[in-house]
Amino acid sequence: MSNNANIDYTYLANLLFPDVTETEADLEERYPPRNLPVGAVVSRLAPSPTGFVHLGNLVQGMTSERLCRQSGGVLFLRIEDTDAKREVKGAVDALIKGLSYYGISFDEGATANGDVGNYGPYRQRQRKDIYAVFAKKLVCEGKAYPCFATEEELEAIRAEQTKAKVNLGYYGPYAKWRDRSIDEIKEKLDAGVPWVLRFRSEGSIQNKFKFNDLIKGTIDVTENDIDHILLKSDGIPTYHFAHVVDDHLMRTTHVVRGDEWLPSLPFHLQLFAALGWKPPKYLHIGPLMKMEGESKRKLSKRKDPELAISYYAREGFTKEAVREYIMTILNSNYEDWRRANPAADYTEFKFSYKKMNPAGSLFDAAKLRDISKNVVATLSARQVYDETLAWADEYDPDFARVLRQNEKTALDMLSIGRGVPKPRKDITVWSDVKGYIGFAFDEYFKIEDPYPEETDKDIIKKALTSFLDTYDYSDTQEVWFSKIKDIAAAIGYAPDMKLYKQNPSAYAGNVADVASMIRIAVTGRQNSPDLYAVMRAIGEENVRRRINKMIKCLS
Ligand code: GLU
Repeated sequence: MSNNANIDYTYLANLLFPDVTETEADLEERYPPRNLPVGAVVSRLAPSPTGFVHLGNLVQGMTSERLCRQSGGVLFLRIEDTDAKREVKGAVDALIKGLSYYGISFDEGATANGDVGNYGPYRQRQRKDIYAVFAKKLVCEGKAYPCFATEEELEAIRAEQTKAKVNLGYYGPYAKWRDRSIDEIKEKLDAGVPWVLRFRSEGSIQNKFKFNDLIKGTIDVTENDIDHILLKSDGIPTYHFAHVVDDHLMRTTHVVRGDEWLPSLPFHLQLFAALGWKPPKYLHIGPLMKMEGESKRKLSKRKDPELAISYYAREGFTKEAVREYIMTILNSNYEDWRRANPAADYTEFKFSYKKMNPAGSLFDAAKLRDISKNVVATLSARQVYDETLAWADEYDPDFARVLRQNEKTALDMLSIGRGVPKPRKDITVWSDVKGYIGFAFDEYFKIEDPYPEETDKDIIKKALTSFLDTYDYSDTQEVWFSKIKDIAAAIGYAPDMKLYKQNPSAYAGNVADVASMIRIAVTGRQNSPDLYAVMRAIGEENVRRRINKMIKCLS
């Protein structure tokens, strides 16, 4: 073990932690093993409250959530707030809200109103006393020691290592406080010099071993030889130490986290062993990537707004679509399953970590949009109306007001081409709805596609006037259309397409051109959903007013 066998570790531990009276046994008793069926997964989401809730949180959250729910286990939320500098006010609420929107709810842990559950507190800064018990135990066993090195001294070590071209870090001969005498330590303590607690690593980088990660498979790992910091000078632990203590006491069976933690894994395993604990199973998830030109790169907070969960809410993606898309990137067989089970709830799918891509997943925004479009196409007009309204209340209050004032028209517009075997797919996100049906409301109606320059204004006027003369709101679609055909014939346009195609030069145009003249007057656009249905939705008075206005404009 230590080179300094003379030192009385118990004495040192009491010097460093005079107030710690609890023992490991007390904590083992307070947080007993969970009484769950064999195979039940206990997992957690352990985000730092930085205020930035990202897709990685959702990907990890959904993975843990599926594994826990499918096995009858427990999912909890632990807030990793050991880095006070990065903490943002309101971040915990934003996290909980962001995740619950996508159906991730926790059995225990941090909530908007404090902590719930028997394994708390679930915020690391509130667990300082717990970490101290295990820090003291490690010191008692000669496995941790105080280090008084100043920033300047650490910098000097780094300079020496750089010059000697050896690995950087506090290890071996560079670990200056590893084997100091008790007198030297006491002198510093008495002088009130700040200290950190370091792990006394017995590892060597010459030693490699195999490790089985549930996503990455069997990987080669090199032992850790660095005397990493366990407790910072304010007694707050580093992530490494905190996670080991917490996941042991909270009885986590599966740690699902980003693979940026893989390099620290040897140290984490070493800590579990030093504390005499069995490590949990690890699932290291690869990063989300996107194509940039020919190559892939990780999604970045700075460059990619779509990395933030808030982006999806703001754009107005349905939560179903986002969830559906994440399932497709998490499990390679999900899409096939979905094709075979189009109407099933996603929770019926048998999620498996074995189907996860060890290298990470490509985030394909076009595919997400495609999924979203298909999801929205399956919703009822009422669902689309309600969800759009909820979205607009937050992001487009003026549109929310218009929707509320014109609920029936909005519902009629949204019903067009919906609930049929091949539904229309005009809406991808809620922010599309205004562009799609907005013309139905006077607030947003405007002529977006004027008549082409070359068209004869008098002919258009004539067509519109004739239309109004015969227009009857109660006409069936057939009668309505036959009237348009009649108008076509009267102004020298082909009344049906077949005739027109047989001899196009015999006509000035065809019935579709006449419909288009009316369409532009009524909707302001060359393209719109079914014109007859649109006229029914916006009402007779509106139709007449818009056409009359157009006739006036053409005069
Ligand atoms: N706080 C860590 C992070 O946000 C958690 C890693 C873990 O899940 O253990 O990356």
